Amino acid sequence: MARTSFHASRQALTAGATLLVVALVVTFSSRGFLQQHEVEVLHPSPALTRVFKLSEINPRLAGSPGDTDVYLYEGPGEGGTLLIIGGAHASEIAGTMTVALLVETLKVDAGRVFLIPHANASAMTHDEPQEAHPRHLVFQTAGGPRKFRFGARFTNPVHQWPDPITYVQPGSGTMLAGAETRNLNRAFPGVEDGYLTERVAWAITQLIIRENIDLSFDIHESSPEYPVINAIVASETSQDVASFATISLQSEGWEFALEPSPPNFHGLSHREWTDHTKTRPILLETASPVMGRLRGRTDADLAVIGKDVQYMKAARIGAINVPFDENGIRSTRTGSPSSTAWRATWPPSRRSSARSTNWCPTASSRWAAGRRPAS
Ligand SMILES: [Zn+2]
Repeated sequence: MARTSFHASRQALTAGATLLVVALVVTFSSRGFLQQHEVEVLHPSPALTRVFKLSEINPRLAGSPGDTDVYLYEGPGEGGTLLIIGGAHASEIAGTMTVALLVETLKVDAGRVFLIPHANASAMTHDEPQEAHPRHLVFQTAGGPRKFRFGARFTNPVHQWPDPITYVQPGSGTMLAGAETRNLNRAFPGVEDGYLTERVAWAITQLIIRENIDLSFDIHESSPEYPVINAIVASETSQDVASFATISLQSEGWEFALEPSPPNFHGLSHREWTDHTKTRPILLETASPVMGRLRGRTDADLAVIGKDVQYMKAARIGAINVPFDENGIRSTRTGSPSSTAWRATWPPSRRSSARSTNWCPTASSRWAAGRRPAS
């Protein structure tokens, strides 16, 4: 009898200890998970006119994880209207950070500017499995450290599930892998009452139409080993502006290539905004080792400065598509504003010529090789 009682109390103790360990693990991991739902506080510049929700355009987003802030700035003078979105792919933090920076520092002399820092707000609430990405990056600023979330490429499956086996894009009928249903930059022009991601895409497209937006930027970034980087992707309606911008950048010592928007790659912002609105769309794709497979420690320094030992080695053997040295990626200025100096420091000419070829013929082979089109 005494032995049975001893066994029972020992089992109860073991069970209690196991439950305690499980509870601690769940509490610790869920704390990190829930922190990704805490939206960063931005401090808009005095030029801000108003903030409104995307659900103002599509009420079907109201109260959903896809709803997000739209910041409007109006200048005193007459002028055009500009839209800049970041975070369509929430793991590409250059877009989110650029638009957040604009929210806090923008001054407008003429015209209007619409800013959306978290275009896919749901995608900011999770991270990608097996990528070893941090959930947050902490940037040191003059006002102290600031923490920004590091999200994922796709909408959070907790918010949009299950994926179909095949995603058939509305309108074009293009068939993609089921997970692409949660890719905002495959969902344009969007569907008013479609999947969550499609509803977000529809609202952004309708914002462009409602506000007669003249010029629209969609900011992305990718790994240094990706073929379409440091690129301005422009459709036929924005080729003139984009060509001028590319030449200006190159003459200032910044290496950027101009990529035409493929006419048959549907769902992408630059394609669908061209086909369904009057705006001139431009997609920007910069290179970041934070996005790459070869990176080491992933932190704010890597995001801002871009120094990485493995990428230096990869650059030496020609395995990546941007110059990379002990100072990080040289997609930033090469040290001289003159294009002559830029050419002298820009290495393999074969890469430059490959990236300046027309997108359309090469795109098919990239697509067939399983590579993503821009972006
Ligand atoms: Zn992207």
